[in-house]
Amino acid sequence: MTFDIDAMTGRRRLLAGLGGLGLTGLAGCAPGQMVRPMAGTLAPFDVVPPLAPLRMKPERISKITVCLRPFRKAGPRLDVETVGDKTVVHNYGHGGSGWSLSWGSGEIAAKNALASGERDIAVIGCGAIGLTTATLLRRAGANVTIYASERTPYTRSARATGTWSPDSRIAAVGATAPGFEAQWEEMCRTSYRAYQTYVGLAGDPVEWTDRYTLSDTPLGEGRLAAADPNGVHFVDYADRVRDITPRGMSLEPGQHPFPTRYVRRGSSMQFNVAEYAHLLTTDFLLAGGRIETMTFNSPADLSALKQKVVVNCTGYGARTLWKDESVIPVRGQIAWLIPQPEVRYGLYYKHVSVLPRHDGIVVQYVGETEAWGYDDANEVASRSEAEAAIAAIAGLYGRPAMRRG
Ligand SMILES: Cc1cc2nc3c(=O)[nH]c(=O)nc-3n(C[C@H](O)[C@H](O)[C@H](O)COP(=O)(O)OP(=O)(O)OC[C@H]3O[C@@H](n4cnc5c(N)ncnc54)[C@H](O)[C@@H]3O)c2cc1C
Repeated sequence: MTFDIDAMTGRRRLLAGLGGLGLTGLAGCAPGQMVRPMAGTLAPFDVVPPLAPLRMKPERISKITVCLRPFRKAGPRLDVETVGDKTVVHNYGHGGSGWSLSWGSGEIAAKNALASGERDIAVIGCGAIGLTTATLLRRAGANVTIYASERTPYTRSARATGTWSPDSRIAAVGATAPGFEAQWEEMCRTSYRAYQTYVGLAGDPVEWTDRYTLSDTPLGEGRLAAADPNGVHFVDYADRVRDITPRGMSLEPGQHPFPTRYVRRGSSMQFNVAEYAHLLTTDFLLAGGRIETMTFNSPADLSALKQKVVVNCTGYGARTLWKDESVIPVRGQIAWLIPQPEVRYGLYYKHVSVLPRHDGIVVQYVGETEAWGYDDANEVASRSEAEAAIAAIAGLYGRPAMRRG
């Protein structure tokens, strides 16, 4: 350990943790070493715990994935229509919030489906939305079969970051129907409650983790406030659910091991999608649900199903299947680094987000605004984008930690 002895007072200040990190903070961390900041004036329960260093090297990339957020300016489609002899309940178009809102959105769709009085129900789609909707229907006593081209881990949902982000790219300002904001809040609160029942289960399908936002310049109002080059202005509903959003706090130099002048810490829910989607799937099957592989090329193909009620949870696929061009792709790419079980915190710096999932360290360039990737349907991975994101975070490790002024 390295201590800075204050000669005047004899007070010892713990500057950094194990392995002689001393004044350099994150700089010079070797894998397995922990970075321990000094407490400063923080209350004991706020002191930053030892933080294991992230191993930010391109050669640790295990895969690069690309996913398209199914964004609709009006928000997700949740209406009901009749197609031939079928009642079709729609549940698609959740932008960057599909995992987060899935239980609340699923509850609306399940109610709509059950309102028909039918108890044999088909769900098309086995991503975040299809799995949760099917689970809710099964719990309500329906006989449920999921039909889908892909199931986890090959759906787009399996390529998501896995964080609680209930209003991320969920709708555009001025494009939603009256009442949507209140409906969103209900979906958000329903989902939040459902997710608490998954916290603490074996394998941590859902858990709470600390996140550190780092910046060399004063932290602003957040990414949504920035001018948007694409002219789309996403809604920001954060104020409606402040009571279920833990308040973050600013950390001063000396209270954290980071080399940036501005640091903010918050806590958020994280979905370990590999475990969580697996759990959803097995629970659904164990409860008597069925999953069949099937591809639908047009709404007319629904006539092949024996069920009269069909819940459409096809996500971005609805753009083609339902010829719904209101579904706009918002491209996002993730570089997955080899898992580091010792890392239990997320980082955000220079528009790069890092999340420590069990199945890999998720590294993602998210752009200056949420419109990064807007209307970009390119699902080909970019190695250079991945390496640039990793380099941005790796750069933190070559700089000395900030000291108290
Ligand atoms: C990079 C990135 C990061 C994200 N991070 C987060 C996050 O941290 N938190 C969060 O809440 N959300 C996040 N999202 C958003 C989230 O991933 C989506 O909102 C969510 O995956 C949508 O789920 P879905 O079930 O509607 O669609 P999908 O996962 O695409 O599932 C659609 C299902 O329908 C099936 N299907 C489609 N068309 C047909 C057809 N014609 N015939 C048969 N089957 C069909 C597919 O095979 C699949 O099973 C992220 C998105 C991206 C791109």
